[in-house]
Amino acid sequence: MNSPADTLKRTLTLATGRLYTMPILTLMPHSRCNCRCLMCDIWRDNANKREIATEAVARWLDVLQRLGTRWVVLSGGEPLMHSDLFGLCQVLRQAPVRITLLSTGLLLEKYAADVVTHVDDVIVSLDGSQPVHDRIRNIPHAYERLARGVAALKAARPGFRVTARCTLQKANYADLPNIVAAAHELGLDQISFLAVDVSTTAFNRPDGWGPERVNEVALDADDAVRFRAILEDLIAGHTADFQTGFIAESPAKLRRLSAYFAALLGRGEFPPVACTAPWVSAVIEADGTVRPCFFQRSLGNAFAQPLAAILNSDDAIAFRQNLNVRTDPICRKCVCSLNLRPHQGINGSR
Ligand code: SF4
Ligand code: SF4
Repeated sequence: MNSPADTLKRTLTLATGRLYTMPILTLMPHSRCNCRCLMCDIWRDNANKREIATEAVARWLDVLQRLGTRWVVLSGGEPLMHSDLFGLCQVLRQAPVRITLLSTGLLLEKYAADVVTHVDDVIVSLDGSQPVHDRIRNIPHAYERLARGVAALKAARPGFRVTARCTLQKANYADLPNIVAAAHELGLDQISFLAVDVSTTAFNRPDGWGPERVNEVALDADDAVRFRAILEDLIAGHTADFQTGFIAESPAKLRRLSAYFAALLGRGEFPPVACTAPWVSAVIEADGTVRPCFFQRSLGNAFAQPLAAILNSDDAIAFRQNLNVRTDPICRKCVCSLNLRPHQGINGSR
C-alpha cells in the first residue's frame, strides 16, 4: 500500500497530466550490448557507444527526490558495460531508491560482489533452454555464462533475488516447458513472460520493421495454434509454479500472449491494455532522450535541458492529457505495459 500523501499525488497526476510524483525511473546507462539477439537491433549500433555519466545522474538527484522516486530500473543495452555503474548506483542510493538491474547475465560472474552490494535485485533475460537461449542470444556459451553468473550472485549473497524475463517469439515458443525447467535449474526465484515486440520503433529500429523481419520473429498461423496448445499444457501441468508465483503471470495473463500473437495475424482484437506508465514513470536513454515509456515518443533530452522542465513541460503534460492507452495505436500493440494504480506500492508492480 501507498501512503495517503503519495496516493493523492498520483491521483492528481492522473487527473491533470502534471507529474506530482514519479515513483519509478528506468535508466539506460549504457547503449551497447554484449548479446546479439535475433529480436533486437540495439547491438547493431554498438559502434556508437553512449553512456549516462555519473555526474549527470548526480544533477538529476534533486528532481528524483522531489518527485519521490523510489525505484530505479537499470536497463540497456547491458548496464554492466557502463564505465562506472556502481558509482552511478551509489549516487542513486542517496535518493534513496531501490535499484533493479536488468542484465544479459554475461558479466554477472565478474561483477557479482559489486552487484550484490550496490543493487537490490537482478532480472536476467532467459530465452530458452541452453541451445535455444544460445541461438537467440547469438553468443556462444551465453547460457553457461548466465548460469555461472546467477550462481556467483547466490554465492556472494545467499537469498539475493534473481528473476528472469523471457521474450516469447518464433524461435522459442515451443521451448516453453523447457524454459520453466531451465529457470528452476538455474536457481532463479521467478520467471515472467512477455511477447516479442514487432510493432514499434523501440530497440533501435527508428523506421520500424518491414514484413520480412516481422515474419522472422513473430508466430505464423500454425505456430499460433501450436503455441496455444503448449500454453494450455503448461497451465495444466504447472499448478504449483503458478500457486507459488514462480511463474509470475496468472494463467489468464499468459493466455493474453496467445491472443496477442493471434491478433498480430489479424485473428481477433489485441487484448485490452491497462497502463499508467507515463503517469508514474519515465525512461532516460543513454543519449539523454527522455520518454514517457519505452515505446512512446521523446519528450526532450536531459543532457540539453533540465530534467524537471522536460518531465513537466507543456508538451509532456499535453501528451499525458491526450493519451488514451485503450485506443492509442502504439499502446494497443504494447507488449510491456505497467499498471500502477494510485494506492499501490511499487514492490513487485512491474
Ligand atoms: S534484446 Fe536485450 S540483451 Fe538482446 S541485444 Fe537487445 S538489448 Fe541486448
Ligand atoms: S501501454 Fe505501452 S506504449 Fe502505451 S503508455 Fe503503456 S508502456 Fe507506453
